[in-house]
Parts: sequence; C-alpha cells; structure tokens
Amino acid sequence: MTINQIVRNTVERLKAEGKVWTPDVYAETFCAEAKKAGFAVEDCSGIDRYVALMDKKTLDEIKQYRVRTTAELIRFLISKLSRMNPNEATILVELLSGLAKKMAQSIDLLHNPDASALAKKTIAILESQGGSTQIDLLKQAWTNFLSVYDDSFLMKLAHFGSVDSTNLRSTIEGLKFKTSQGGGVDYDRTIRILISSLVPSIAPTMDDTTIELSQKLHSNPAYIATDECEKEIKTAIAMRIALDKHSVEEMVHALDVLLDKLSVQLIDLIERSESSSSEIREVKRDLEALESHKPADFKTAHKRLYTIASTLEERVEVLSKDLKVHNEKVNQMGKKIATLEAELAQATQASREDFLTKLFNKRAIEEYLNLKEAEYERHGHSFCVAMLDLDHFKAVNDTYGHEAGDAVLIAFAKILKLEARNSDIVGRYGGEEFLAILGDTDLEGAKIFCEKVRAHVEQAHFMYQGQRIAVSISIGVAQRSNFPSLKALISGADERLYDAKRKGRNRVEPA
Ligand code: GH3
Ligand code: MG
Ligand code: MG
Repeated sequence: MTINQIVRNTVERLKAEGKVWTPDVYAETFCAEAKKAGFAVEDCSGIDRYVALMDKKTLDEIKQYRVRTTAELIRFLISKLSRMNPNEATILVELLSGLAKKMAQSIDLLHNPDASALAKKTIAILESQGGSTQIDLLKQAWTNFLSVYDDSFLMKLAHFGSVDSTNLRSTIEGLKFKTSQGGGVDYDRTIRILISSLVPSIAPTMDDTTIELSQKLHSNPAYIATDECEKEIKTAIAMRIALDKHSVEEMVHALDVLLDKLSVQLIDLIERSESSSSEIREVKRDLEALESHKPADFKTAHKRLYTIASTLEERVEVLSKDLKVHNEKVNQMGKKIATLEAELAQATQASREDFLTKLFNKRAIEEYLNLKEAEYERHGHSFCVAMLDLDHFKAVNDTYGHEAGDAVLIAFAKILKLEARNSDIVGRYGGEEFLAILGDTDLEGAKIFCEKVRAHVEQAHFMYQGQRIAVSISIGVAQRSNFPSLKALISGADERLYDAKRKGRNRVEPA
C-alpha cells in the first residue's frame, strides 16, 4: 500500500466517523491507518520515545493527564517546570551550602594542615557566595587533595602500638611510649608539670639553667631518672625562688618610690586646700600611715592608694561643683550690686533735683549753702545769695492755667541757668521762688547778674499755645560778709525781695 492509499483511507475514516479535522485528530487517524497497513512512520511513534526516558513518577503523571501528542507532552513538561517552586530550590541550595560549610568546619578540625587550609578556603567561598568558577576550582582542589593524600605516616606509630587508620584518636590513646629505664612509665606528663613548676610566677624570664634542663628533658625524657637531673632540678628550684624574690624586691622598691612621691604631693595638696572635711582628714591619716608602715605587698598598697584616689576625686568633684555654684552666685550678686548702684545714683540725683525745672531742689540748695558757709568760715571766701520770685504768678495760673504756669517756670529756669556761670549754683527754692548762690562774687557783681536775669525775663517771649505771656521777676540780693550768719543772710535777701515787690516789682534790690 502506498502512502497515498493510506491518506485516502484516513480521509474516508474521518468522514465516516464525522470527526472535526484538527491537525491532531488527523495525525492520530493517519497514524492508525499507517499502522494498520504495516507502515512505520517515525512521527507516529509519538511521545513514546521521550516517555521512555522519564522516571516512574513523571510517567504516572503523564498517564494520569492522558498526554498523547508531542505538543501535549511539551505543554505538560513546561507546566511541570513552572510548577517547581523557586523558593524550594533556593532553600535547597542554602541547606546544601550550610551542610558543606559544616563539613568544611569539621575537616578544619582534623589536624591536617592541607585539609584545614582547603576547608577554610571553602568556608570563605561559601560565606561570600562565590561564583560557579570559584566553586569549580575549589572542587578541583578537593579532588587533588583526595588523590594525593597519603596516610602512610601513621604506620610510624606502629612501633608504639596498634594503628587504626580509621580512628586516629583511639590509636594515639593506645600508644605506649616506653623508655629504656622507665619500663612503660609515661614521663611526658611529669616532665611538663615539672617544667611549668620551674617557671617563675613573678619574674618575667627563666634562667638559662632551667631552659637547658627543660630542653634536655624534652629530647630525652629518661634523663629525669638520673642523679644528675635531680641536682639540676634542685638548682632550678633555687633559681626560680631567687628570681621571684628579686622581682618582688624590685617591685616593692618601685612602689616605695611612688608612694613617697605621691604622699608628699597629696599631703601638700590637702594642706593647701584648707579643707577640714572629715574625708580629707581621713585621707591624710591614711597617707601618713602609709608613709610609716609601707605595705610589703602590692594588693594592700594598691587598694589603699585606690581608696585615697577615689576619695580625693569625689572631694574635688564636690568642690568644683560648689565652686561653680558659688561663682554663679557671686556673678549674680555682682550684677545686683551694679543695678543697685545705678539705681542709687539715680535716686541721689533725683533727691537733689527739682522734678519740674531740673535745677537743684531746696534740699540741694541748702547743702550747697552750708558748704559755702563752711568755706567762708574757714577761708573767708565771701559769696552772694539772690532770691528771685516771679511777679503776680498767681495771675498767670489763673489766666492761662496751671500747665501754662509750669511751662513758664521751666522756661524761666532755662534763662536762669543760661545767665549763671558754671560755678554758680541755681535752684528752685519754693513754688515760683528761686535762689542763686554766686561764689567768688561781690555785691556789685551779683547785682549785675541779677539785672541781666531781670532784663532777660522782661524781654523774653514766654509762649503758651500761641499766646505770649508777659512775665517779670523781682530779686533781692545780699552778700554774706554783710551779715552775721547764714540764716541772717537768707533773711536779708528775702527781705530785699519783698522790698522789690513793694517798690513795684520787676526790679533788683541789693542789701
Ligand atoms: P507776687 O508778685 O507777690 O509774688 O504775686 P504772686 O502771685 O506771684 O504770689 P503768691 O505767693 O500770691 O502766689 C504764688 C503762686 O505761684 C501761687 C501758686 O499757684 C503758684 N505756684 C507755685 N508753685 C507753682 C508751680 O509749681 N506751678 C504753677 N503753675 N504755679 C505755681
Ligand atoms: Mg510771686
Ligand atoms: Mg512767691
């Protein structure tokens, strides 16, 4: 039968069975027809040749899912692949890597330098998650190690006992090191204990005799049984004691020197600190005691010095804290004092100043009068006093108001100040009454001054809210040397002032 016949049979069978002609259905029918005709078509062997390669579990699955065509097989395999959990793979890799690391760590312990080195390298690569090339090289190194490893050295131990190459530990423990005189006695441990007992515990080095003896015993343990060795051991013991003793002496001496220096400095410090606190006194007592009975051992000396040092440290801390607090207090007080001083200066100024005109007030004027009087009495320096009173001032207040009156008083004070010399003292003596003390001035000079003031006031334009206020002044003036006392001088000037008022005001009356 030709292939054409088979195709024809296929088509007819498909028609007869009324199947839809999908490629799969066609291929299946064609293969069935070909098989019937005894025709071997390679494509028709289907999935069998692949299935033959698979494990039993996968085969069962293929059967279960009725996989028949190559396309179905491919789909099945793809879905199986993507079903595999990547997490599972990662976990598996991590577990394997952990296992390998543990194995490498174990190998590292197995007393073989080559294996140890390789194990260390393996651990390092596993920890750094080395790439596949590195891992491959490592694998090669392990292979090399296994291929050249030679344990024939173990046989050297056969002389001392039976050797089990699979259990090194039991082999070593089973060995017997015999010596000619010892007859099976293990000198090794004894020698180790002996030598460690000959090593000085305080002195930093061993002496040569002991070193030599230890070397001799290591190379020939049997030497221990000889008389000569006994003598050498005795010498080494004496040497060890001497060395340690010497070291202790040196250290005690060094400590003495240190204590000397320390105690001198500390006692000095404490004495200078002037502190009488009980702790400090105790420290001082301790130091003095230390000075007279120097402790022979380090522990006691160290402990005492430590206690002293920590007590001092605490004291210094407390003192410096106190000092800080005091400093702050002193600073605060300094500031307060400065403020108080400023306030006092202001108050003193205020107590001597007239609030309205800023000239001296009555109290200040009286102080100056007393001062001038004292100078007059002591040195005969005469002076004049002028009493000035604004005329009809009540009328100014009544006509223009009290504020206008105040403004006139302030303006007049400026005139008075302007006309007076720097050495003259001018002040407000009462409501609208003023007083001037003219030092080193005789009555003639004083009259001139008073006349200038009077004229200035007469001509001045005292203005208040656009209105000119006409103001005049009457002045009584007197010279000290013309009166028996200060009181009489003031009354004299006052009387002259009233003369001036009586005589018509706006005038100067000398006495
Ligand atoms: P005389 O010419 O006789 O001195 O007449 P006067 O009006 O000046 O004298 P008097 O003593 O009768 O009146 C003084 C007035 O001065 C009374 C008072 O109201 C006024 N006075 C006193 N002190 C002040 C003040 O500080 N401010 C004002 N505005 N007026 C004052
Ligand atoms: Mg008046
Ligand atoms: Mg008056």
